[in-house]
This record gives sequence, C-alpha cells and structure tokens, in this order.
Amino acid sequence: MLDAIVVGAGPNGLAAAITLARAGRSVHVIEASDAIGGGVRSAELTLPGFVHDVCSAIYPMGIGSPFFRGLPLAAHGLEWAHPELPLAHPLDGGRAVALHRSLDATAEELGPDGPTYARIFGDLTERWRALIAPPPRRLADVVGPSPGLWRTAAAGLSPAARVARRRFVTEEARALWAGLAAHGMQPLVRAGTGGFALSLGAAAHAVGWPFVRGGAQRLADALAGVLRGHGGTIETGHQVRSIEELPAARVVLLDVAPEALARIAGDLLPSRFSDQLARFRRGPAAFKLDYALSQPIPWQAEACRRAGVVHVGGTCSEVGLAFGEVARGLHPARPFVLVAQPSLFDRGRVPPGSSQHTAWAYCQVPEGSGRDMTDLLEAQIERFAPGFRDVVLARHTPDPRALEAHNANLVGGDIWGGACDLRHLIFRPTPRLRPWTTPHPRIFLCSASTPPGPGVHGLCGFMAARAALRALRRRKI
Ligand SMILES: Cc1cc2nc3c(=O)[nH]c(=O)nc-3n(C[C@H](O)[C@H](O)[C@H](O)COP(=O)(O)OP(=O)(O)OC[C@H]3O[C@@H](n4cnc5c(N)ncnc54)[C@H](O)[C@@H]3O)c2cc1C
Repeated sequence: MLDAIVVGAGPNGLAAAITLARAGRSVHVIEASDAIGGGVRSAELTLPGFVHDVCSAIYPMGIGSPFFRGLPLAAHGLEWAHPELPLAHPLDGGRAVALHRSLDATAEELGPDGPTYARIFGDLTERWRALIAPPPRRLADVVGPSPGLWRTAAAGLSPAARVARRRFVTEEARALWAGLAAHGMQPLVRAGTGGFALSLGAAAHAVGWPFVRGGAQRLADALAGVLRGHGGTIETGHQVRSIEELPAARVVLLDVAPEALARIAGDLLPSRFSDQLARFRRGPAAFKLDYALSQPIPWQAEACRRAGVVHVGGTCSEVGLAFGEVARGLHPARPFVLVAQPSLFDRGRVPPGSSQHTAWAYCQVPEGSGRDMTDLLEAQIERFAPGFRDVVLARHTPDPRALEAHNANLVGGDIWGGACDLRHLIFRPTPRLRPWTTPHPRIFLCSASTPPGPGVHGLCGFMAARAALRALRRRKI
C-alpha cells in the first residue's frame, strides 16, 4: 500500500508530494491534464515559436517562498529572469510611476510620498529578507512585535482605498498602491485589501518579481524533477472522480477546488462539512489574453518599456471603480488590466533571431462571465500605448469558461481559488483549526483554497503534507 496519493499536479500538489517524499513516504501523483503544472504551465498558444504562460507568469511568491528556496530547483533547470523594473503604472499624459527593486529608489521617485512609502513597506521588506536569508529560520523568529510591525498591520488590514487617500498625497503614489492592491481582485474599499498591496510591494523589494526563464512550465518540471529524485511518481491524463477509484493509500491529499473535494470524497465526509464546501464563496473571474507581437508594446512612458509588469488602469479612483463594478456583477468599461512582458527579459520565448515579442494580459470580470472583453481590454492598453493593436500578430483569448475547461480548479474562471476577502483568507475553505484537514482522518485538501491562499509558492501543499505526516506518525491510519 502507498503512503500517499496526491490528486492534482499544480504547484501545491507537487509541493505536498515533495514534502511527503522527502520525509521518506511513498507518493504517487495523479493529474487530470496531459501535462503537469496546473496554474504553472507554458505552451505555444498563438504562433509557432512563441512560448506563453498559460496561467501564472510572475513569481514574487515563488522566488520568495521559504519552501521553494529549500529545494534544489536550479539543479532541475529552474532559472529566474528578473526584469529591469518589476512594475510600472502609466497615467494619462505619458507619465508613469515605477516600482524599482530598491525601496530607496522607489521612495525617491515618489517625491513627497517617499518617506511614507518607505515607512509602510520598510518593515515587511526587512522581515521578508530575514526569513529567506540563510541559515533557514522559523517564521516565529522574524515575526516579533515592533513599532514597524503595527504600522504594517494597520496598513495591511485597512481598505486599500482608505490608505491611498489618507497616507499618500500624489496621484502617482495612490495609483501605484491601488494597482498593487488590485491583485486581490476585491473592491478596494474592503478591509484587508491593503494587505495585497503591502505583500506584493514588499516582495518586489525583498525578492523581485521574476519570470521563469523559458516559460512557467520549467518551474513545474523542476518541481517534478525534485519529486522524482525522492522516488515519487506522477501519472497524467487521469481525472479523479471518486476516492474509490484511487489505488490503496494511507492518506489522500487533494489539490482540487473545495466543491470538487466534496464530490470526490462523497459519503466519506459528513454532509454538514460537504455543504460548507459546496457553499465556498468564489472571487471574480479573469478574462485573459496572450499575444504574439511584431515588436515591444509601444508604451508612451519610458518606464513601461523597462518593466516586467505594467498596471493599466489609470488613477486610484479608476482602479477602485473597476473593482466596485465587478463586485456588483458588471463588466467595467475601463477594466484594470495586468500586462506582463516576459520576452523583454527572456528572449527564449520568441522564434530565434526574431525581434518579436510576447505579452500576457488579463482583466477582472464577474464570475462565470462569457463576455468577450478583448476590445475594452485593448482600448485600455491603447490609451497608454497608442498603436498597440498594429503590433499584434496573433491573440489567444481563453474566457473564464475556457480557463475552467483547462483546469477544473478555476471554477467560473476564479483564478485565486476562492474569494480573497479577510474572512475567506483566514477560514479557507471552512473554519477549522487545521484547515488542510477534513473530518475524515485520511483525506486532506492541499490546494490554493487553503491557507496561505493563492499564488505560486507551494505553501498550501507543504502545510497540508505536514498535517498528513503528523497523522501518519500518530498511526491513526
Ligand atoms: C490566468 C491566471 C494568472 C495567474 N497569475 C499568477 C501569477 O502571475 N503569479 C502567481 O503567483 N499566481 C498566479 N495565478 C494563480 C496561481 O496559478 C494559482 O494560485 C496556483 O497555481 C494554485 O496552485 P494549486 O496547486 O493550488 O492549483 P492549480 O495550479 O490550479 O493546480 C491544480 C491541478 O489539479 C488538477 N486537478 C484538478 N482536479 C482534478 C481531478 N479531479 N483529478 C486530477 N487532477 C485534478 C488540475 O488539472 C491542475 O493541474 C494565476 C492564475 C491564473 C489562472
């Protein structure tokens, strides 16, 4: 009998499997798709020779993950590609504000808002650096109280719109903060949205916002390489519908959506728990576009031409308005668009010797939306990069339903594995002391629908595997 089966080979499934295999347990991973990686895949989606990241593309949480940093991923082919600037945010009139790797350089760029910016981001940036600097430390060692920590917590727990209004005076700083907060895909008036701005900004300063050289798939392949090195095995092309169909194993860890956990486990879970899983609240969906381009995006502002990511959404108020509309079930006329430009910093993504480029972009839409947002999304890019449409060679447009067809975890096109408001980040997927466990002692949930939540960092899988190892050690099963 196997020690563990992991269902789903996304970054969390692979992280769970690696954690179990490194502890000497026999592990087999079963993946529905023909390729491993889940949200960490790349493919030629537009034209031959153009490599696109199918889902995730930017990895502050990956390079900054204490779990990934403890794995020999470079020996298995992983190389990070850092852009010159992690982020730029254009404003009308050809202006843009840049987020630099250096906290000081960013603060200097923000003029009168520089000291406030440095105070807000300084403490968390330092703690993050301390957490990942060798020798390895426990989280508890870098979370001690300090005046800086309370300042950080206050900004993180507040609505991002309020922090922008009260703490910053320039349009540039407010827009930069709002764009960072927008990654949470929540209306910026909600408590806790400041936390997204804080963690992503601090990540940019502490570790950067890199791409994976050659495409996201190489990160998934490196994780699989580590797993196989510890004796783990992976099977693809097998969508699991019921626990009954799995080979005999002491524990089962599922890198799946909470709703799918209820279906797959069936009667093994008490109906009260299954009902809670079925009622799990989803976040908005993403409408994504991948581009093959004849040349780089012709941004008016020079900073945007040097940045890995460009936040296209205008002022803080405009960004807030777009998310407010989506929360009310509307499609924003001026969506907030996240644009990534991997080929500016990784030439392996386009045909050799060409001067062509790739771009990756998405905007938020209501859950399950089937509306084609291409025109609105491109109008936003054109606003800051006139002539953009003229450089498009080909596009690939998976709407939210296509995203879900590609990966069953993206329910209704929700890319974050569930709503990311404060309640759903803490009680994820249900209120439980150890949220990776279920009422059944052999069944665990290890997907991004558990803490610490979405993003490519492997920590949900790592924590779930630790809970499973504890259960295995206690010989409960
Ligand atoms: C468009 C998009 C853009 C994103 N951008 C970023 C980004 O830039 N940076 C970032 O950090 N994060 C980003 N994310 C989020 C990130 O991809 C996810 O948070 C992360 O992949 C979650 O990992 P996971 O292992 O929990 O699930 P997933 O990566 O979704 O993997 C789950 C796997 O389980 C498989 N599976 C599901 N059900 C079954 C079943 N019944 N049987 C067998 N296999 C099954 C799926 O096929 C899939 O391979 C993005 C996501 C999307 C969709």
